[in-house]
Amino acid sequence: MGKLSLKHVVGAALIFVLSACVTTNEVTGRSQFITIPASEDTSLGLEAMAEVKKTAPVLESGPMVDRVRRIGKRIAAISDNPNLPWDFVVIDEPVLNAWALPGGKVAVYAKMVNSLTDDAELAAVLGHEIAHAVLRHGAEQLSRAQMQSLIIVGVGAAVGAATKDDEKAQLAVGLGSLAAQGFVALPHSRSMELEADDIGTRYMAKAGYDPRAAVRLWEHMKTLKDAGGPPTFLSTHPSDDKRIDRLQAQMPYYLSVYKKR
Ligand SMILES: [Zn+2]
Repeated sequence: MGKLSLKHVVGAALIFVLSACVTTNEVTGRSQFITIPASEDTSLGLEAMAEVKKTAPVLESGPMVDRVRRIGKRIAAISDNPNLPWDFVVIDEPVLNAWALPGGKVAVYAKMVNSLTDDAELAAVLGHEIAHAVLRHGAEQLSRAQMQSLIIVGVGAAVGAATKDDEKAQLAVGLGSLAAQGFVALPHSRSMELEADDIGTRYMAKAGYDPRAAVRLWEHMKTLKDAGGPPTFLSTHPSDDKRIDRLQAQMPYYLSVYKKR
């Protein structure tokens, strides 16, 4: 295949994928670019969880898991997608982090659970992660990474055909493996973080947890320093004063949701 026709094929594929995959999120009203059908979220999450279990001590029973599951299920039940196959586990490692996989598989690390003052702060963490899963942020992130590598493969193939230089094609392979671990280790975009704060705090309030604990949580996290090693809550959930300010600004609304129940 000549380089010109290859460029045309890649261009046509990009236009097809772009037009087919932009959907409007029903909860936020924001347009999202997602190449993965919602029906595949569950199997994708199960696959990713199986990968995590190969390397991490995942607890599926015991008092700490019971507590996380009790709070998590209470919030998931009033979320915009109560029918996802929700599950909550604890990873028995001294790491301050939590994450959500597509399809409603949520994990919190033992150190995170132990560092929180009460159920409401844990509900703030779980509400935030539940919102990420409901809003399909993992699938969105993976789609973006796929698109980046598709563009680089396309450019790499076109350039490679002309210059016999496969460096760019190799770069594309690197990005692909990055996407594979993206659910757990990559930071969400700023817009995803703010959405998860907003929707997650509304969920926790609706489930009966005082939403003011969300502000306490992020203030608490700010005082803790990232110590390197495995990804921590701050590295995958960048925190700053602006996100706390936004939560404070919306607090009258969250409190009205909390008091209305
Ligand atoms: Zn987040």
